Amino acid sequence: PYRQRLLVVANRLPVSAVRRGEDSWSLEISAGGLVSALLGVKDFEARWIGWAGVNVPDETGQKALTKALAEKRCIPVFLDEEIVHQYYNGYCNNILWPLFHYLGLPQEDRLATTRSFQSQFAAYKKANQMFADVVNEHYEEGDVVWCHDYHLMYLPKCLKEYNSKMKVGWFLHTPFPSSEIQRTLPSRSELLRSVLAADLVGFHTYDYARHFVSACTRILGLEGTPEGVEDQGRLTRVAAFPIGIDSERFKRALELPQVQQHIQELQERFAGRKVMLGVDRLDMIKGIPQKILAFEKFLEENPNWRDKVVLLQIAVPTRTDVPEYQRLTSQVHEIVGRINGRFGTLTAVPIHHLDRSLDFHALCALYAVTDVALVTSLRDGMNLVSYEFVACQDAKKGVLILSEFAGAAQSLGAGAILVNPWNITEVAASIGQALDMRADEREKRHHHNFGHVTTHTAQEWAETFVSELNDTVVEAQLRT
Ligand code: UDP
Repeated sequence: PYRQRLLVVANRLPVSAVRRGEDSWSLEISAGGLVSALLGVKDFEARWIGWAGVNVPDETGQKALTKALAEKRCIPVFLDEEIVHQYYNGYCNNILWPLFHYLGLPQEDRLATTRSFQSQFAAYKKANQMFADVVNEHYEEGDVVWCHDYHLMYLPKCLKEYNSKMKVGWFLHTPFPSSEIQRTLPSRSELLRSVLAADLVGFHTYDYARHFVSACTRILGLEGTPEGVEDQGRLTRVAAFPIGIDSERFKRALELPQVQQHIQELQERFAGRKVMLGVDRLDMIKGIPQKILAFEKFLEENPNWRDKVVLLQIAVPTRTDVPEYQRLTSQVHEIVGRINGRFGTLTAVPIHHLDRSLDFHALCALYAVTDVALVTSLRDGMNLVSYEFVACQDAKKGVLILSEFAGAAQSLGAGAILVNPWNITEVAASIGQALDMRADEREKRHHHNFGHVTTHTAQEWAETFVSELNDTVVEAQLRT
């Protein structure tokens, strides 16, 4: 049977590539949320287009990598070091990422960033054009092209310039900020206009979609409608498509003997204590210092809990070469050290802080033994950790404390305890409430969240987006 081809364009391919020789590469698929979502999409034949994360200056290497990737249905875009530096580290990570998460730049970096803005934006456009070239080379009539994330905001326009009939969707995985934030971006109009070249523009939440439409009306003077944004009779459809997870993958993992064994070990290790868990990349947006300070306040106010609760914080290193992230790491270490010094005993400490990632099975075991998960993001597009925790809690029915600034608060709000992570007093009180919560209330809350997480899956998300994109294009043809 004919299956429509889906070209998924994202900054990074879902593989890590290591060069083994002049013309040999070893590849490992990294199973993130997006990958498992699209593997499950049965009606489409998906292909990936993106950067492999390595610099390959020579033609022999490029050819060999292209060939190896083809077996995994991946098509590489080769970016050289200078472009990566300016486009990826510079414009994407240093400008768009903080801005979209409402983070100011550190004072001393602000002017430097302002100065390098134009050259970084030029590199951003150039890189997006390189992605467009590769898409255009592989495009066949009838394909659906799905562009992902803030790295590729300039891509829809480049694609439509090649071929105005191409079906183009764009999805943002981060928040889209208030139009007042978007307004400060020197390239504000150009970016919005290029995103609007897409047929369908998607966000995790209704709020982000609304912010985007307001930015287009206020900054570009276009007309916002319930359907999207209109420009001289042409509609760009704008809507919310909250992502989900492959919940079955987590449920299956929990049944494996080695995971069961690991669960039992953890239960013995922490017997007699309630387990609280945080799992975050060590990023400013995750509110890790705020979380730990709230935990300290809880211990301060509740001496009877001091030897009965432990906080496990998995802090996955990210962008470790950037000074601001290094400062955050030391800051967190300092707070953790202080609290462990203050409340630890000869036999136990209240916080286990790990600067590392865990493999999938270890993570599942941890989720399963947790009594209270603590997500305190200051801003977060969705936050999949909260979904994954819920998926692993059908036996335990633990409590989720969730920041109202995570996209997930829109979907898990009725089951979780929602908090403002900036209000440490409130978070500390919520920790007490969660630890003391009666079984019947925990069960009711879990039931709500579990129902959501197991029915709103990643696969359903991808299918909904793509079918909406197909429909949007058909409707547009009918209108003209
Ligand atoms: N994760 C992982 N290994 C770890 C910790 C986390 O693979 O040691 C995964 C986790 O399972 C989740 C993702 O990293 O799927 C984090 O996604 P989330 O949306 O919570 O935050 P992001 O890092 O994308 O901002």
